[in-house]
Amino acid sequence: MTYVPDLYGSLVFNEHTMQERLPSATYKQLMRTIRDGAPLDLDVANVVAHAMKEWAIEKGATHYTHWFQPLTGITSEKHDSFIDPTPDGRAIMTFSGKELIQGEPDASSFPSGGLRATFEARGYTAWDPTSYAFIKDEVLCIPTAFCSYTGEALDKKTPLLRSMRAVQEQASRVLALFGEECGRVSANVGAEQEYFLIAEKDYTRRMDLMLTGRTLFGYSPCKGQELEEHYFGAIRPTVSAYMKELDDELWKLGVPAKTKHNEVAPAQHELAPIYSEANRGIDENLLTMEKMRLLASHYGLVCLQHEKPFEGVNGSGKHNNWSISAGSKNLLDPGEHPMENLRFLVFLTGVVQAVDDYQELLRMAVASAGNDHRLGANEAPPAIVSMFLGDELGAMVDALIAGEDYNEAGRLAMDLGVDVLPSFLKDNSDRNRTSPFAFTGNKFEFRMPGSSVNLSDCNMILNTAMAKSLKDFADAMEGNAGEAFVEAATDYVRDTLRAHQRIIFNGNGYSAEWEEEAARRGLANHKTTADALPCFVAPESIALFEEFGVLSESEVRSRYEVKLEKYNKLINIEARVMRRMMRRLYLPAISAYAAKVAEHVAAVKAVAPSLDASVQEAQLARIMSGLSEAQEKFDALAARHKEIAGIEDAQEAANANAHELLPLMESLRATVDDLEILVPAADWPVPSYNEILFYA
Ligand code: ADP
Ligand code: MG
Repeated sequence: MTYVPDLYGSLVFNEHTMQERLPSATYKQLMRTIRDGAPLDLDVANVVAHAMKEWAIEKGATHYTHWFQPLTGITSEKHDSFIDPTPDGRAIMTFSGKELIQGEPDASSFPSGGLRATFEARGYTAWDPTSYAFIKDEVLCIPTAFCSYTGEALDKKTPLLRSMRAVQEQASRVLALFGEECGRVSANVGAEQEYFLIAEKDYTRRMDLMLTGRTLFGYSPCKGQELEEHYFGAIRPTVSAYMKELDDELWKLGVPAKTKHNEVAPAQHELAPIYSEANRGIDENLLTMEKMRLLASHYGLVCLQHEKPFEGVNGSGKHNNWSISAGSKNLLDPGEHPMENLRFLVFLTGVVQAVDDYQELLRMAVASAGNDHRLGANEAPPAIVSMFLGDELGAMVDALIAGEDYNEAGRLAMDLGVDVLPSFLKDNSDRNRTSPFAFTGNKFEFRMPGSSVNLSDCNMILNTAMAKSLKDFADAMEGNAGEAFVEAATDYVRDTLRAHQRIIFNGNGYSAEWEEEAARRGLANHKTTADALPCFVAPESIALFEEFGVLSESEVRSRYEVKLEKYNKLINIEARVMRRMMRRLYLPAISAYAAKVAEHVAAVKAVAPSLDASVQEAQLARIMSGLSEAQEKFDALAARHKEIAGIEDAQEAANANAHELLPLMESLRATVDDLEILVPAADWPVPSYNEILFYA
């Protein structure tokens, strides 16, 4: 076994390797680009490219790729070899600065939401030097942004980077007001990834899992998660071997995989890394997801990353742990001195304002066909965005809002514990698992994202909304100093918290009462993707993105189109798969079994007409009536499916999919699932939940 520190980052062109391999002047210039965003000139790029190539070849690489994240959300790559033939019939390996900095994938088959006309199929990829290059499967992967030739972002990374810059600028202004020497401000992300592992032999017999990622049929297993023995339980040997290989592979790639454990549902697991700067954290999450999928095959397993592979069984999420730091200082960490406390309160208030004002955008960012089955399903937070601050901090904020113990001098009184916040805040143990957006000591945990989502969208929104809050504060405070600043800032915090009080909710987010209460408070509750998406193109949203240069109006509109299109396509595929499975698997199997039972009845009657065959007859009657119900529902689904395919307007089609087609699909499923338990396993055409979820 290799010593882990030797393994860790061995396939990454990280700072350590750069320092080792680059001339010191080049290294310094590159660091200025990485840390301060200074432009990189071609001479430097040439030197970096050469060093990178030499390093990659030593590690066995033969190709390079610009690794990017188109609007599909998953990563894309096209491999180019380093070879350069020489006139004498040999080849040398080359890689220039230009090839490092910019690439030109044929972009015509990536979604652009109308941004890139098909005649201008070219897009280009541009190196993101703030995320390290790495080697994967003998290919040097260079993290890049993907844009059109007119400069519009065609990917998930570009707006995320823009939002990180926006929050950095505004946070620096706020820190300056506190007279603080601030190191580099960054938004950080730690993504807890949940997933299912099931046996390949079952997977390959389920067309629905293979084509849609979830089971479109299936009766609940006899045993679910009620005994709670799976969560944190001993990890099965095969799964454990898988997790070990996964850790090793991730560590080589410098992905700080930290925690692994079984999750609550049978066959469900989780991996949590140590957090990184947002763009790296997201790149690392995407790499983690890819490795999870690929390595499963080494163990005869399949890794499911869909939000809800099994109805009635907990789905998979991806908690987005988010914070802002300046240098080594976490700005969401309540400090030990009064001014640090005030600074903490200002940042906390900023988050409260951001989440309240842009709650619909946050919901929109995690909306997907898969996640619609999860949000609000008694296991994941509801589709309503609210914030949990914890008992101590919550009580303090309540007191602040109520203006209690607030004295003339503009300082918060000692007995509120604000001058020096109690240190147990940092170790907040009474976590509310039902809250979509919870303060967990020194960071916020956004729990709505689903397991398959690319976290760039929600972090782009969080960062931009936070930049807006901080800008408002900085604009309002400029000109105040010393005591006057403390007083004005304290007033600002109190007034802002008061104005955004409705977003704070410490109770049970899974309860029906909360839905009613949230409606009274005027909080949005968009249950489906079709309902959640339109806010993306609302004037307030476009104004926010434009104010901070994160997305232009046309970029917003194109993204909205792409999301709608993706949703409609997925539902369309699901409906198709459902119909195909009905026609080719379920209807024939149920009919065949009904014929078998009928033969039994006839056989019994033939042998001894006086015997009581009513049990078999009743069974036959149940199957036959189920069969005709299934046929009827199948016909209704097929008819509506065809009509919806003819709707031209994408939003209208999405509405019909969400509110008409999916309920028809649910209803058909229920009928078939009821038949599943009437038919012996040997006569049923696909493996059942029991078999899939409980394997040796
Ligand atoms: P859990 O939420 O399961 O109790 P932790 O709170 O320890 O576990 O951490 C969960 C995730 O939050 C980890 O990925 C961790 O790296 C990340 N995390 C911890 N601190 C921060 C922070 N300041 N900013 C962003 N993410 C963080
Ligand atoms: Mg967590």
